[in-house]
Amino acid sequence: MYINITFADTQIMELRLFNSLGKSKEVFRSKNGNVVTVYCCGPTVYDYAHIGNLRTFLFEDILTRYLEYKGYEIKFVMNITDVDDKTISSSRKYNTTLKDYTEKFTNEFFKDLKSLNIKEASLYPRATEYIQDIENHIIKLQNEGYCYESEGSYYFSINKFAGYGRLSGLEINESKNKTRLNEDEYTKDNAQDFALWKSWDSEDGDVYWEGKLGKGRPGWHIECSVMSTKILGNEIDIHAGGVDLIFPHHENEIAQTEAVTKKQFVKYWIHAEHLIVEGKKMSKSEGNFFTLRDLLDKGYDANHIRFLLIASHYRSQLNFTFDGIKQAKENIDRIQESYSKVKSLETETGCNRVLSEITKGSIDSFEDAMDDDLDMPVALASIFRFVRDLNKYLDDNEVLEENKSEVLDYFKKINSILGVLSNETIRLDDEVMQLIKERDEAREKKDWKKSDKIRDELSKRGYVVEDTEKGTRIKRNQE
Ligand SMILES: [Zn+2]
Repeated sequence: MYINITFADTQIMELRLFNSLGKSKEVFRSKNGNVVTVYCCGPTVYDYAHIGNLRTFLFEDILTRYLEYKGYEIKFVMNITDVDDKTISSSRKYNTTLKDYTEKFTNEFFKDLKSLNIKEASLYPRATEYIQDIENHIIKLQNEGYCYESEGSYYFSINKFAGYGRLSGLEINESKNKTRLNEDEYTKDNAQDFALWKSWDSEDGDVYWEGKLGKGRPGWHIECSVMSTKILGNEIDIHAGGVDLIFPHHENEIAQTEAVTKKQFVKYWIHAEHLIVEGKKMSKSEGNFFTLRDLLDKGYDANHIRFLLIASHYRSQLNFTFDGIKQAKENIDRIQESYSKVKSLETETGCNRVLSEITKGSIDSFEDAMDDDLDMPVALASIFRFVRDLNKYLDDNEVLEENKSEVLDYFKKINSILGVLSNETIRLDDEVMQLIKERDEAREKKDWKKSDKIRDELSKRGYVVEDTEKGTRIKRNQE
């Protein structure tokens, strides 16, 4: 027995994340001991989220779940962009108020998160709740000389901010800007300057605020700078989003924030890659554009979609295919089957030492992979290796009492990240719960006709009902 394993242990336990700022894997160290502040750019609620958006939100779910797994306390904020060009023009198109329009799609977004078993953030601030703070921030930028007014709009002057381009690696090309400037950007000093506050025009209809900056509304970028620092403080541990947000959104967020705070805004910038569908860029004109509800309407299961969307490395492009959903189902079933077998196993006392070592080693392999920049493909490979080994012990009746609790602990751990196994975490929606209750009541009254009808309804929704001595058991239909 070797006792001196402290060094190796510390090495294993360190989480490394790929920081887009600096473009390398870095050991994660939170600024504030055990507490980690995480800000993720949320949806613009003018339509249903598409699966590419959802891939990013699922990656952020894995990130925050794993930080919690590592013992951190997470303060996780995701904003809701409820005012911008798209929300305004869509609400006008459908002849409804901006508030009603965005409320509908905010609720649909929350439904998607629930279906995909994405854990709730600590807070979902809406941009329209922070207008005064946004105005105050812009005034500070103006006082510091980073912002100028032109025809009632306020712009950030990127030439004034020395670090502009640090995140994206983009250089400000003066000559190119001058050409573009001559073409169409008359109101800006520099074509790459971006709006902090847009003065009202007729396209905005009744959407405007009339405060310190005059009649208008905030630009998109400033919303995130203000909400993130207001809620999480001037120095945030992790800021995440899709790669498409690196430029200009996140570059602009850094400029606007650091120009005022004079502190490093974010320590780790983490970005998830794009998703393509059957090898092609997703687009409405190609007919390969999908929201979650599109897939659920086609009869696919949210759990399988979750698995498919988390199974690739977050920094690789994900090729979403319908075959992939089927494979995801098979993969979940493989893990679920072993898990369920162990759960219902009647064990004899004792411990199979070899299986015990395999179980512990498999936890280590899983954690090593996740510690290495959340390497999900490697983590999943280790899980399938373990399941294959475990199945042999199950076939040989070699899973003993102590093994059972170790193995159940293993599944509990991996599922705290994967979030796809049922039983302990069986996720029944409120309507299904209500149906079960109604069926139990019908059975008590011996109203068999009604109880059968409800059973058929549950079956349609993909659940099998079993009546046992201990009461009603419900499980997902395997088909
Ligand atoms: Zn943002």
